[in-house]
Amino acid sequence: MKSKKLKSKKLNLKPQYQIYKMNTRDIKYIVVHCTATAPTTSLESIKRYWKEVRKWGDTPGYHYLIDAHGAAHHLLEEDKISFGVYAHNKACVHLSYIGGIDTNGKPKDTRSIRQQVVMRRLIGDLQERYPKAEVLGHRDFANVTKACPSFDVKTWLKHFQLFH
Ligand SMILES: [Zn+2]
Repeated sequence: MKSKKLKSKKLNLKPQYQIYKMNTRDIKYIVVHCTATAPTTSLESIKRYWKEVRKWGDTPGYHYLIDAHGAAHHLLEEDKISFGVYAHNKACVHLSYIGGIDTNGKPKDTRSIRQQVVMRRLIGDLQERYPKAEVLGHRDFANVTKACPSFDVKTWLKHFQLFH
């Protein structure tokens, strides 16, 4: 009797969660990236780069991309695999911001406050859907020599506060 009650309670899901219930992938990591481009780079030119240079067809490098204005673009359904971290993509949901380098092409955290707020909210949403997933930066994976996303994700999460 008790378990039955628990079960029906469990099925009383939030509408938002129901949409993502179809994700059959076992998400272990929520991975943060940068595009390693100038912050003003357009979404269109990034998509073109994936298609024409990387030869990824219509598959984007990330599920979500936050542009310079702080708008989050949902590029791929979360149950689909995207190209973000070599050899780990099956277990990842990827998000990125446009930017991540200075005018000399050196790694730099170029995020505006607006981009940071949107990023924090997006990570919060993903954590609700994947409570067991670890939030990491691309560079936190073993054998990654890139600086991506040009800041320390764990330190930032610890110190960045969202004020509603
Ligand atoms: Zn990356």
